[in-house]
Amino acid sequence: MPKHIAILGSTGSIGTQTLDVIRAHSDKLVVEVLTANSSADLLIQQAKEFKPNTVVIADESKYTQVKEALIDLDIKVFAGADSLSQVVQMGTVDTVVTAMVGYAGLKPTIEAIKAKKNIALANKETLVVAGDLITKLIKENHVFLTPIDSEHSAIFQCLTGEPQEIEKVILTASGGPFRTKSIDELQKVTKAQALKHPNWEMGAKITIDSATMMNKGLEVIEAKWLFGVEADNIQVVVHPQSIVHSMVQFTDGSIKAQMGLPDMKLPIQYALSYPDRWHSDFERFDFTKYPQLTFEEPDFDKFRCLAIAYDALRKGGNAAAIINAANEIAVDAFLKEKIGFLDIANLVEKAINGIGFVDKPSYDDYVATDVETRKYISSII
Ligand code: NDP
Ligand code: MG
Repeated sequence: MPKHIAILGSTGSIGTQTLDVIRAHSDKLVVEVLTANSSADLLIQQAKEFKPNTVVIADESKYTQVKEALIDLDIKVFAGADSLSQVVQMGTVDTVVTAMVGYAGLKPTIEAIKAKKNIALANKETLVVAGDLITKLIKENHVFLTPIDSEHSAIFQCLTGEPQEIEKVILTASGGPFRTKSIDELQKVTKAQALKHPNWEMGAKITIDSATMMNKGLEVIEAKWLFGVEADNIQVVVHPQSIVHSMVQFTDGSIKAQMGLPDMKLPIQYALSYPDRWHSDFERFDFTKYPQLTFEEPDFDKFRCLAIAYDALRKGGNAAAIINAANEIAVDAFLKEKIGFLDIANLVEKAINGIGFVDKPSYDDYVATDVETRKYISSII
């Protein structure tokens, strides 16, 4: 039986690579829903190729363009952010790939789980903001969540077939483009430099998060919710070659690693094929071409966002929602060249100290925290 897929954010880096995987496995995967924020041309092109049941363009000003382009095809077209939360509930959909970026992914992911859809999760911000709520909903609704993030896919693959006696998880990090720069040099780095990731081609927001290492901080929090490990049992190790995608250490001291060339199509495919593995023609890793795989400690003084994320995880409550919202606003300001690179960490720290702490937040508390933090950080910028 083929899986019937909705892709939230089909026009982005993860979204287009998900469509590559679907194209290669069209006997097993069928596209039901495609969505974009404002990339109307690409959404139209994708819809013509994959002939989904429904498409959504979040930007309402692009609705007429998309509607008219698809008029001769039997495809429903909706616009606006609320439509995203509705289309994931469609009866024909069984799996939702959350490839949207940022906090905007939270609401549709919640609605998808409530409608008993399995989730292939790329949108890590959802788990960072409301990991307790999401894990609770996953259990209550008896659905599966498979991770797409390469580190978490690695851990998930290491755990398959294990009784899950984890001693610790070891998250690898490339270290990003500024791994070897001094703090002084970081003061002057530009947007163009920050957008040049050494190993991965990704959307702008996660590429900047990789440069600040906030991405690894968000992934530490993501790992806690996915695998039930506490902050002290999550270790980050810098591994510039990005071949070992992460590791699990078991209570007998044995360590399992998942390895391969850096290509997001592999974790995307596994998230959709699990518990099976499907053939792929992705390039194979050759040990003899990499005589050295190296590992080093992260520098928490230089990459303060990583330290701040660990602190937020230990603090719990709405702390991670605060740092997520502050980071989204700060990264956007950096991309618009309104603030410097090191200001990102400064602003996230200001938010943690400036926004009220809520110990046991409800969904409404998370929403309020997000709104308040965005307002606060925007006013400082
Ligand atoms: P991109 O910026 O490349 O793509 C984001 C997608 O989401 C686009 O389709 C975009 O539409 C859409 N989108 C953005 N904002 C909104 C919104 N407010 N409402 C509706 N749709 C929206 O991001 P990535 O693919 O790089 O990342 C997606 C997620 O996956 C992130 O959470 C990231 O952290 C995670 N991830 C990404 C990896 C990667 O290799 N790229 C690796 C691991 C995790 P449009 O094109 O119209 O702007
Ligand atoms: Mg990752």
